[in-house]
Amino acid sequence: MFWKESDMRRVIGYVRKHLDSWDDICINDKARLRLSLILFSLAIAIVFLAMAVHTFITVGFLTAASSMLFGSASLFLFLWQFHRKEYCMISAWLLGALSLVMAVYFTISNGLEGPSHIWITLLPIMSTMILPFWHSFIYNGALLALLIWLLKNPQHSHMPEDYGPHMRIIFLLSIMILALCNYTSEYIRRRTQKQLIIMTEKYRDSSLTDPLTGAYNRRALTSHFGGMEEPAHGLSFAMLDLDFFKKVNDTYGHEIGDKLLRHIVAIVKKVIPPGAQLYRWGGEEFLIILKSSSIDILYDVSENIRKVVASTPLPISIQEGKPPELLAATVSIGGTVASRQDNIEQSIGQADEQMYLAKGSGRNKVMISLI
Ligand code: GH3
Ligand code: MG
Ligand code: MG
Repeated sequence: MFWKESDMRRVIGYVRKHLDSWDDICINDKARLRLSLILFSLAIAIVFLAMAVHTFITVGFLTAASSMLFGSASLFLFLWQFHRKEYCMISAWLLGALSLVMAVYFTISNGLEGPSHIWITLLPIMSTMILPFWHSFIYNGALLALLIWLLKNPQHSHMPEDYGPHMRIIFLLSIMILALCNYTSEYIRRRTQKQLIIMTEKYRDSSLTDPLTGAYNRRALTSHFGGMEEPAHGLSFAMLDLDFFKKVNDTYGHEIGDKLLRHIVAIVKKVIPPGAQLYRWGGEEFLIILKSSSIDILYDVSENIRKVVASTPLPISIQEGKPPELLAATVSIGGTVASRQDNIEQSIGQADEQMYLAKGSGRNKVMISLI
């Protein structure tokens, strides 16, 4: 046996890994175009190189040269995709141009019959698969212009003389119908893709946010930072807890309690700097992560939140017809700047400890651990 079972498993694993990276093909246009480009360039390379070998054996080297040239160029574009992913668009246009040149070459050498016929009918389909929507319009426009020119000049020395007007019109129409069918299916695909993107975004949003307050949840934290064990250096953390929140629930009921949570989240979202993230850590506990290692910034942001919350009571109507009552709330905040060796979990633990110190020292306070 040449193959061991472990080799087989390794190959299957390799293929699987690469297929997984194509997972987002339905919603990622670039990935889809690149995959089409890879498949098309490979298919063209195989067909033309096989043709070149066949012609070389049966006719001779010179006749095989053109197929050899086209096949090698396609093979180069195929291989180039694996080394230079960022040149995907240039490769797509190169393959498109190469195919157009091949179409012209065949047409001029054979007329609009045989391989040119098959080849030209493939071009509109290929262009919509490897090029973005509007690019393929330009491409197909160029193809049609070329065909019209060829068909209007049947007296061209290379064109077969018996190519009557009837045949020319039919040929042109069939190409146009083909392009139209292709664009219709492409339009439907794009609509479906749009819906899929909207649904995926909705699902992603709802899986990462807390439905009551709209703040991110714990799952979002893992998703944003890659896990609790990830290094936290360069970040600072503030843990915020509402003071005597249980009392609010007991006095005014859960609905007002929920309203207060939403009110606090709205305030915090307004106060935190751009780039900072807010997570609902537990019932009435929230975590703020700042992309900064500055203890001053952490303190200023935390103190600002504390002050704004304390000075912005929530208007609540307890009885209909009566003016709303103002429900004042305060928060205790504990903060820490992550050091070089801290991971996310440890930093959150330190912020939590500081928050409990703030509670212990009278609430409505900010406590930051010194590095
Ligand atoms: P402290 O100042 O020590 O933090 O006191 P506290 O009353 O805020 O703390 P405690 O942990 O005793 O109470 C938290 C309360 O938060 C208990 C729970 O009923 C309430 N709670 C948790 N989640 C929600 C929620 O989603 N909505 C409402 N309305 N209440 C919640
Ligand atoms: Mg509390
Ligand atoms: Mg609490």
